[in-house]
Amino acid sequence: MIYDLSREERRHRAIANEKPAPVLKAQLCACGKAAPAKQLAQHGKCVACLFAARVATLQDDDLDVLHHMLGATSHHPQSRWGFRNQYLANRRDLAALDRLVAAGFVRAGAALLDLRYFHATQDGCKLAGLNYAAMTRTQGARP
Ligand SMILES: [Zn+2]
Repeated sequence: MIYDLSREERRHRAIANEKPAPVLKAQLCACGKAAPAKQLAQHGKCVACLFAARVATLQDDDLDVLHHMLGATSHHPQSRWGFRNQYLANRRDLAALDRLVAAGFVRAGAALLDLRYFHATQDGCKLAGLNYAAMTRTQGARP
């Protein structure tokens, strides 16, 4: 048997050069759930807590506006929710829409005279309780 030293040496070098397997450094969020260390370093909270913190900036009536925007109300069967994704703001809704936009659940769209259309973002759809299919429908049907 011929002992191929150079081949053996290459093999050892290759092993030495292998990067260590990525270690998933999970830490605990304040809520008690494990979250990637990078997530906590960047945001200080797990994804669920970040979402909850955004929801906490809203007022109760803001959700009515969001649901109405998406047709996600008791007037429509739940299977139809998300058949629309637009809302022409009334002056009295502007404070609610400001909060929804600031929290990332709604984005401003086209202006119509001195009014403006608003549309729910993906996170807004999630907050309104739309399932994945309905959410996809609303994002595809953007005017
Ligand atoms: Zn958390």
